[in-house]
Amino acid sequence: MLTIDGFKQALRHTQTEIESQKDTLTDLDRAIGDGDHGINMSRGFEAVLSILDEDYDSLGALSKKVGMTLMSKVGGAAGPLYGSAFVKIAAAFGDAKEADFALVKEALLEGTNSIKARGKSEAGQKTMVDVWEPFALNVDEGDNYDSQLNELVQKTEDMIATKGRASYFGENSRGTIDPGALSSSILLSALMKEVG
Ligand code: ADP
Ligand code: MG
Repeated sequence: MLTIDGFKQALRHTQTEIESQKDTLTDLDRAIGDGDHGINMSRGFEAVLSILDEDYDSLGALSKKVGMTLMSKVGGAAGPLYGSAFVKIAAAFGDAKEADFALVKEALLEGTNSIKARGKSEAGQKTMVDVWEPFALNVDEGDNYDSQLNELVQKTEDMIATKGRASYFGENSRGTIDPGALSSSILLSALMKEVG
């Protein structure tokens, strides 16, 4: 069960993990982008931390605030994409104070659809969608979430980017993991730990 406190804990854990992998995220984005993904995500989740001390009366209210914060604080492509995902996840959670596995899975599918709509992207283009979509579609309760997420991140290494900044690298984008796929796995891993 995901509770409001559990959701907050997942966001704190995401911030810690983003911070410790900031250089890796930046290095990946330097190889197939402009080298700011670590900085963007770090700034965004630092801002998210500062809204977690407030009280929220539903999972939806918390998720909406996170989404608005990421949209306004994170530059680049990823901020609005993550932001829109949290806003859509908020709509799926609504007034609920806790969410079971099925509701979380439904919310993640909504989040995925929002990223795809906003990014005009689909799976197979070497973006964060390559983690969000297959995970949201295929995850089952009690699975080894981290091993699934790691596998999805690794799969982006062989892909050629056809969306976002990495697409300018064409064939040369092959051989590097997508930075947004890695940051997405960090977030989803922290969230699933709290769902149990
Ligand atoms: P920018 O590309 O503007 O520098 P970031 O470096 O913060 O922004 O984020 C890059 C990540 O955003 C990529 O690794 C990819 O996962 C994701 N991304 C970029 N464009 C899209 C898109 N159109 N749809 C889905 N994800 C995208
Ligand atoms: Mg970048």
